Amino acid sequence: MQILNKFFKNLTSALLILVLISFVFSFFFGTKTKDPENISLSELSRKVQSEEIKKIEISDQKLLITDKNDKKFRTEKEQEASLTETFTNYGVKPEKISKVEIVLVTSFFGGLFWLSILVQVILPFLLIFGVFWYMSRQAQKGMSQNFNFGRANVRLFVNPKEKTSFKDVAGLNEAKEELREIVDFLKNSKKFIELGARIPRGVLLMGSPGTGKTLLARAVAGEAQVPFFHISGSEFVELFVGVGASRVRDLFVTAKKASPSIVFIDEIDAVGRQRGSGLGGGHDEREQTLNQILVEMDGFDRETNIIVIAATNRPDVLDPALLRPGRFDRRVIIDLPDIKEREEILRLHMANKKPAFGVDLKRIAQRTPGFSGADLANLVNEAAILTARTNRKEISQEDLSSAMEKVILGPERKSHVLTQQEKEITAYHEAGHALVAGMLENSDPVHKISIVSRGRAAGYTLKLPVEDKHLYSRAHLLDELAVMFGGYAAEKIVFKDLTTGASNDLKEASAQARRLVMHYGMSEKIGPLSFGKSDELVFLGRDLVMEKNYSEKVAEEIDSEVRKMINGAHETAKKLIVKKRRFLDKIAKRLIEVETIEKEEFEEMLKMEKKTKSRSVVA
Ligand code: ADP
Ligand code: MG
Ligand code: ZN
Repeated sequence: MQILNKFFKNLTSALLILVLISFVFSFFFGTKTKDPENISLSELSRKVQSEEIKKIEISDQKLLITDKNDKKFRTEKEQEASLTETFTNYGVKPEKISKVEIVLVTSFFGGLFWLSILVQVILPFLLIFGVFWYMSRQAQKGMSQNFNFGRANVRLFVNPKEKTSFKDVAGLNEAKEELREIVDFLKNSKKFIELGARIPRGVLLMGSPGTGKTLLARAVAGEAQVPFFHISGSEFVELFVGVGASRVRDLFVTAKKASPSIVFIDEIDAVGRQRGSGLGGGHDEREQTLNQILVEMDGFDRETNIIVIAATNRPDVLDPALLRPGRFDRRVIIDLPDIKEREEILRLHMANKKPAFGVDLKRIAQRTPGFSGADLANLVNEAAILTARTNRKEISQEDLSSAMEKVILGPERKSHVLTQQEKEITAYHEAGHALVAGMLENSDPVHKISIVSRGRAAGYTLKLPVEDKHLYSRAHLLDELAVMFGGYAAEKIVFKDLTTGASNDLKEASAQARRLVMHYGMSEKIGPLSFGKSDELVFLGRDLVMEKNYSEKVAEEIDSEVRKMINGAHETAKKLIVKKRRFLDKIAKRLIEVETIEKEEFEEMLKMEKKTKSRSVVA
């Protein structure tokens, strides 16, 4: 389509030029050649004889004649003879001829005339050929681009100025320790080879997105001061089959030339997935690419001083062949940062910014469990933007807090105005969540309740765990499930009606209940069994063909257990809300009034509520 467009554009411009040129030429010659009167040679001879002629200008055969009265004529002489000869032949006396001023005009005019003919005849052809040539060149370029796919699109980082070092990576001490060894191998490979030690060939960095894998790989290259070839797994997968494999070959050839060097394959799961597990197109291609990577890595001899670092956030889908000794035999697991590491990362990213006096990064670190390094970097950046937007010079604690909420929940949408009724429903919905969370013992504490819409949610109840958690108890998960139904139950009880606002809660609750039953063995009836191969991680190809390693009967049992769990959670929420209806009203009213209730205020409300309750029990 685009080529066609281009063609027409070229064609029109070519035609336009053509018309213009012929117009110019015809204008030029038309006026010049028509003006003087045409006379015959014999008449001219007679006029020369009678001394009427002042001047004759000759250009090729053309004669431009000016007579004594400055009248102009034109004629043509024959080609073979010179003008004097011609006149002599016509019987003009030589002394008469010599009285005429004869000027030889170098044949600019005649040349131009021929040129004009040439141009008029040849130019169109030239233009047409030009257009075709241009188009074919374009097409060829496209073709060669396609066929250049085999070349790896590697990026080389040896720029000593933009060096990343371990100093730029906060925390991750175990990972750094492991990688320091690699740096040592690259720097002093002789020492190790002489001792007969086998240099590791591959290091696999595994960790959630944004935990600093790419950063760490760059730091290794910076520390070792060797060329660093960076390619992303997805770049191997292209339009044509076989391209990935040839790219791998190309990549390793380049790396070997530059050895000692580091090859960094980011997002290796794009090619390193378990073979034979894909659905749909392209998985053959991936297999070939993966095989080629394995072949290349096996082909390293002891002298080959290349270390392949690969990163993935899906180690579970990797082909076991990649993990065999001699390939990616070193595995570095990169966890989400813990509270101390989070503080370090925050500090690192705050280093080039201006914090206001009294900014407590530790408090931010405490409130951000589950944040990755990238989230934290983003948080600091958002805070800086917020500060700049309000024309202040220093980043305050407030800025950091609002940036944190923005990172968790998306930007506030103050312009998204709720109608009075929507506001009421949202307030009761969020109050329901908060009430259930506040009353249940094992749920995470409420951090903030708000009916200012954020992202896609009309309102939100933000709950944050008190500390980093790696294990979750059944009691906690069940309480959390009940909290998810707080909004739904409140809407139903207060308005005797439901809105679509609870859909996300329901989706999440269902998924959570299913996990409890199928993976955590937390249903008494089903017992300690795990069903389905893939964990909570969903990944297309495999999920669709997920082995159903249980019978239909068990499937029914699972379904009924999931339902039971959900009904139980809903029941808990409903009971609490009915019992604490007055408290629910209080929270909702306050929300409508101030839109946002912070942690401190909510805790105060909760304390009062509990006090009145115990008093009433005593009474
Ligand atoms: P991934 O693990 O997805 O490859 P990246 O290495 O791309 O993550 O990290 C993204 C960004 O997050 C980095 O550029 C950096 O700014 C920040 N970051 C992540 N982890 C750390 C860390 N440990 N120390 C400092 N910054 C970090
Ligand atoms: Mg990355
Ligand atoms: Zn909700």
